[in-house]
Amino acid sequence: MESKSSPGSISVSAPLTKDDDLYRIEDRYAQLEKSFSSNRPKEDLAKVRAAFEFSRDQHIGQARKSGEPYIIHPIAVAQILVDMHMDLVCVETALLHDVVEDTGVTIDEIRKRFGPEVAVCVDGVTKLGKIQLYSREEQQAESVRKMLLAMVGDIRVILVKLCDRLHNLRTIGSLSREKQTRIGQETLDIYSPIAHRLGMGKVRAELEDLAFAAIDPEAHADICGQIEHKRKASQEFLEGIQKSVEQKLAREGIPARVEGRVKRPYSVYLKLKKQKIPIEQVYDLLALRIITDSLKNCYAALGVIHNEWPPIPGRIKDFIAMPRQNGYQSLHTSVMGTGGQAFEVQIRNEEMHRLAEEGVAAHWKYKEGRRGKSTEEQYVNWMRQLVEWQQEMRDPGEFMSTLKVDLYSDEVYVFTPKGKVVVLPRESTPVDFAYAIHSDVGNACVGSKVNNRIVPLKYSLKNGDVVEVLTQPGHMPSKDWLGFVRTSKARNKIKQIINATERSKAIEIGEKYFEKEARRLSVSISKIDEAILAQVLEDYGVGKLEDLFANLGYGKIEARPILMRLSPERAAQEEAKASEAVAPPPSQANMDKEAKNLALRVKGLNDVMIYRAPCCNPIPGEAIVGYITRGKGVAVHSISCTNVQNLMYEVERKIDVEWAKSGVESFDVQISITTDDRPGMLAQFTQILFSENSNIRSLEARGDDDRDGAVVDMKIEVRDKRQLEKILSALRRIPGVRDIERKS
Ligand code: MN
Repeated sequence: MESKSSPGSISVSAPLTKDDDLYRIEDRYAQLEKSFSSNRPKEDLAKVRAAFEFSRDQHIGQARKSGEPYIIHPIAVAQILVDMHMDLVCVETALLHDVVEDTGVTIDEIRKRFGPEVAVCVDGVTKLGKIQLYSREEQQAESVRKMLLAMVGDIRVILVKLCDRLHNLRTIGSLSREKQTRIGQETLDIYSPIAHRLGMGKVRAELEDLAFAAIDPEAHADICGQIEHKRKASQEFLEGIQKSVEQKLAREGIPARVEGRVKRPYSVYLKLKKQKIPIEQVYDLLALRIITDSLKNCYAALGVIHNEWPPIPGRIKDFIAMPRQNGYQSLHTSVMGTGGQAFEVQIRNEEMHRLAEEGVAAHWKYKEGRRGKSTEEQYVNWMRQLVEWQQEMRDPGEFMSTLKVDLYSDEVYVFTPKGKVVVLPRESTPVDFAYAIHSDVGNACVGSKVNNRIVPLKYSLKNGDVVEVLTQPGHMPSKDWLGFVRTSKARNKIKQIINATERSKAIEIGEKYFEKEARRLSVSISKIDEAILAQVLEDYGVGKLEDLFANLGYGKIEARPILMRLSPERAAQEEAKASEAVAPPPSQANMDKEAKNLALRVKGLNDVMIYRAPCCNPIPGEAIVGYITRGKGVAVHSISCTNVQNLMYEVERKIDVEWAKSGVESFDVQISITTDDRPGMLAQFTQILFSENSNIRSLEARGDDDRDGAVVDMKIEVRDKRQLEKILSALRRIPGVRDIERKS
């Protein structure tokens, strides 16, 4: 055996020979080389050998958990890829995929020896390996983002990674139970959905079944037993049907292979769990698969089948006319066999079959050397979009749920009024449909008709629905839509618009604030020097005056220092004044006001100018809404405030606000107590307030002669709604208290 010595590599020594005898490493490699050269006769085998030998020498002395020499693993991963007809770079990457992670070799060295493409792929696989996938949701979201980024760089990275995972699962038996569960779960959460999305049906199926067995060996064995039992029982039946189909197709001159197919354990398991049915009722458990030569013959074969056995209504699916999002094409039908036993038939041509089994990998099959960018484009585009969206979605939980919809969901097929098919995730709404047509249609969407009847915008679309979108030019998407849209495209576009609207609100607030401060400081805005303004904008890191206003509106910066910069004369005056007299301390009232407003903020924005509306005087814990005033920032009202209803006719001025979690301030609340007029009442009131740690800011009692009682008006300090309610209910319990009203 030869070996190249390299800096840092361990030289070949006796144990290798022993391993080689025991595990027939050379034989395994020879098999790899043989399959590779028969699939891709023009490729340079010397390069494959170089990668193998380098990897073998680096991993020397390392063993897998099973005790096998480590090199067995990269060879096996490469073999899987070769069997998928993958190219030279893929095979080299597979052989080298653990070298950087597990030995001292650097990516630079890989690049020097094997070229930039292999280096990029090995680097990608190494980075994917370091990602913690089995973790809290936000970490998982970040991990998936990294995976997507790696895939966008070169899709072969994920192909190698999927095969790496596949081989690890095949040999998972020597790991601890805990590790098996973790790896299995991670596979079901991340890897198999990605394989599915890339159309790699075969890899996905094996990943899922192996992961299922790793997570729950008993359930897996149980399902396998049940399937086997059912298969044996129906074997004769199925063989009879198969023969009969073969004969009938031959008689019609339709060339075809007919295979029996048994549903995979994991999908049976999911079906049983989801539909809560016994295995007898899974009527696509056994299926026939007809693979013919052309698209035309797919439909011809379907005709032959339906001519012989009556189709079960509602079970015919034409995925040829309406391919699944991952490109899957086939005709599916369930028919009633003789003796009342139903079975499923899947019909496709060779091309469709290859795509169904191999997906994105199929594109490499007949390609030599360079990979063709255009063919994998549809898959890469999807990932690129996801990455973009992910960057805009701040909330990792939300990203995960979007991703799950995109990756895992079943699809629903609906039509435009002109008969064009639109494929959407299940439970999509007319709004999703509108955005799938065009962003402008989505934005202007005000209503929808499904099958000619008006439906609510959150209507859940069904297969075959004909969807019409009613639009109104200039209409803006509503924030409520975010509560029901399913597609990432709709979600993303709605958010973009809402952010833009909030920004324009911030600009408006900022501009008014700026003008007001200018008036207060007697700076004439019209006389501002262009050059100074340009300099100020640059110093604040913004391009336009508008951006400066936006920052003012968001409360990121203050107006005064800007105005002082813009008006050097005023600044000089101020300075002179400051040296003359010490500025008076801010009044207590003003300071209180400032502090209280700190307890509020506009959702998603920081420190916008904001204050509590005096009419309803909301306190923490109460449902509130913001209203953009002209020139005074955002007024916050209690939702129950009667003024709100009147103010909100200008819907676009409404803005979401929330209580910040500070909790140290207290708030004045005015209450009015109607009580029997008898001695000792006031003492009882003050006692309660004292024990609740609330201060009385003012108190006024007067007789209410009409009703032979007294009215006590009090201004008290409370922290929040809860404290107020506690105080009020304690006051109400005092004998003689008739009624308590909150005035503001
Ligand atoms: Mn590996």
